[in-house]
Amino acid sequence: QNEDSLQPLDSTITDSERFRDSKDLFIVCPSCHVTIKFGGIQSSKEYHVTFTGVKCTACDSVIPWLSISAQLEHFIRHEISYYYAGWLVCSDCGLHTRQVSVYGRRCIGEHGTAHSCKGVMKYCYSNKQLYNQLLYLQSLFDVDKAKKRSLKSLHDPSIADKENVPVEMNKGELDALVEQNRESFEVMKGVVNKYLEDCGRRYVDMGSIFGFMVTV
Ligand SMILES: [Zn+2]
Ligand SMILES: [Zn+2]
Repeated sequence: QNEDSLQPLDSTITDSERFRDSKDLFIVCPSCHVTIKFGGIQSSKEYHVTFTGVKCTACDSVIPWLSISAQLEHFIRHEISYYYAGWLVCSDCGLHTRQVSVYGRRCIGEHGTAHSCKGVMKYCYSNKQLYNQLLYLQSLFDVDKAKKRSLKSLHDPSIADKENVPVEMNKGELDALVEQNRESFEVMKGVVNKYLEDCGRRYVDMGSIFGFMVTV
């Protein structure tokens, strides 16, 4: 499997698998300034999704949707600017550069001559990674995924400290929260979608223009 190819979206692969390398979404509570790792509607010791919205466990206040959307958007913009910085890395010597070699994907080497290293260059942060990251953020606000309990878990089951894993919600509670929050979560999904559509288009463009770069 080529590491730069997209995972099929309709396959049986779980979100925990698909988004294994995605960065978590952290939200700072505007009332008590504690940092919360947000994973959608699932049990967490740091926050609770209630019928009035996302509640901070530390201070028991509801985090305004406006604050969540602003923090979400800030995170997305940060990821996009990192992507646009366009850093390349060599597979052999580890050289980092923003310079695309006239020799295509060949490493330009320390002296910039492309003779000193046989490595190939690839993007540190590929369009595929960015696209996948946005899909991950979108999934966090997908209430139907929450309902099916198919969201990426906030706890890595292999290293989870059992005592810190909160009790799972029962079906009745989960279903009710999903319906009570559907509309607000849709709005948050819209924030991600705005960028995702752009990125998807670019993914296609980049693939055809810089195909030599992404199919190492
Ligand atoms: Zn708080
Ligand atoms: Zn090199």
